[in-house]
Amino acid sequence: MTDALDLRQSSTGDPADRLYAIVEQGLCIGCGLCQAVAGPQRVAVTKSSSGYLHPTVVGPLDHATVDVIYDVCPGTRVDGLPEHLVDDDTKIDNVWGPWRRIVRAWAAEPAVRFEGSTGGVLTALGQYLLSSERVDAVLHVRASTEEPTFGEAVLSFTEADVLAGAGSRYGPTAPLLTINEALDRGKTLAFIAKPCDIAALRNLARHDRRVNELVRYWLTPVCGGFGAPSFTANFVKGLDVDPEELTDFRYRGRGCPGPTVATTAEASHERHYLDYWGDDSTSWVLPWRCRICPDGIGDSADLAVSDTWPGGSPTRQESVDDPGTNAVVARTVAGQQLLEAAEADGAVVIEYDVTPDDMSIYQPHQMHKKYAVDARFKALGDAGRIVPETNRLRLAELAAELPVSVNRYQREGTARRLAEGKGTEPRPTPRSS
Ligand SMILES: Cc1cc2nc3c(=O)[nH]c(=O)nc-3n(C[C@H](O)[C@H](O)[C@H](O)COP(=O)(O)OP(=O)(O)OC[C@H]3O[C@@H](n4cnc5c(N)ncnc54)[C@H](O)[C@@H]3O)c2cc1C
Ligand code: SF4
Ligand code: SF4
Repeated sequence: MTDALDLRQSSTGDPADRLYAIVEQGLCIGCGLCQAVAGPQRVAVTKSSSGYLHPTVVGPLDHATVDVIYDVCPGTRVDGLPEHLVDDDTKIDNVWGPWRRIVRAWAAEPAVRFEGSTGGVLTALGQYLLSSERVDAVLHVRASTEEPTFGEAVLSFTEADVLAGAGSRYGPTAPLLTINEALDRGKTLAFIAKPCDIAALRNLARHDRRVNELVRYWLTPVCGGFGAPSFTANFVKGLDVDPEELTDFRYRGRGCPGPTVATTAEASHERHYLDYWGDDSTSWVLPWRCRICPDGIGDSADLAVSDTWPGGSPTRQESVDDPGTNAVVARTVAGQQLLEAAEADGAVVIEYDVTPDDMSIYQPHQMHKKYAVDARFKALGDAGRIVPETNRLRLAELAAELPVSVNRYQREGTARRLAEGKGTEPRPTPRSS
């Protein structure tokens, strides 16, 4: 394997090999940003033979462009909240990051709360940002029109369009594929997307000054990862449905969590959310990048929004008729002001304030992963792999809180999985080739 440092900073060898190394080492999450940076005539992020959205090199690529990709790709760099957004009143929790206020809340409009993945807060805030004229458009995602289990980027100008994107997409989704088109309009934006997508756009802000001029609000779901395409395909086949026949696939929403619904031209097949994920969270099949994610909690967003089931997952009994309640972590002045204005103007209902300790009760898997990341990254380094560059994520501080034996267990476990090939992907080829 090529030395990881050489891959990050290189002027020799084939630039395409450097880009492919991000994919081959399991670090690509398919955000689409490398296509936006290199241009679609040189890099195309499409469904690859592995079933994921991955980049393929389709035109001449130079080292300078790949240098930029390494600096913006969320597989190779993830930073916490920009320092200028942390002020004297911001508290920092080692697990939960910068915060000013944390509340339980839901969308005030019952139809939005119902459609939403949890309590509809992200959708309600996206709509409120438009109706209050704080932004001209919301860049977020909706169900893909071509691949029913995927998500796709959409620029919404109306509240109805924001609502059409409600619900979590647990499939490959590239919210940044069209970021240049969005920025080229010169309109103010809110960006709603996963923490890795937020990290990618924060990275791009260092290279494209339009990002900080135009992107006024950064909102994210807390994210434990999505289902690997093979995992979702197996679920669909288990319904006696050919994945190629799907016309629509809804993971959750319409209640909390709401049903998972696979639709073909002939019929709709409805199952419980836990039938998709399984009752045992250890059986979840996630992309490798999600297993070693240094930031599933949206450290660099204005607002991070989560579920509130104690233990991180609903029981079948609890989820009957649950109208949905989000936890909302307001990290920045802009995020807190938005949340409080939305409450004052009747867009969201705040139930009561909670604390980072409550977040760890709602999200034990996030807490455990945040503690484990430093050791997992050390195992990547031991194996001579690319170690994602991180800043302001408190990973070393968290590892220092753990007994040596736990860090060793995490490091050895990751090394074992790497040796088993878990963190290795084939070189992507477009699915049609
Ligand atoms: C992949 C994934 C993993 C998650 N893991 C966790 C978890 O571990 N713990 C937890 O508490 N919550 C998790 N969530 C978040 C949870 O499902 C809800 O999205 C969150 O509580 C917000 O709920 P809401 O009702 O406000 O969202 P909604 O009002 O339904 O709004 C959801 C917004 O997220 C956007 N979105 C949906 N899917 C994607 C995607 N794949 N990529 C980018 N943007 C997307 C939509 O465009 C929409 O704007 C996850 C969500 C996703 C997408
Ligand atoms: S994570 Fe995004 S920027 Fe990085 S290689 Fe994948 S698609 Fe490209
Ligand atoms: S777990 Fe991390 S890498 Fe995976 S989708 Fe969520 S934020 Fe992105």
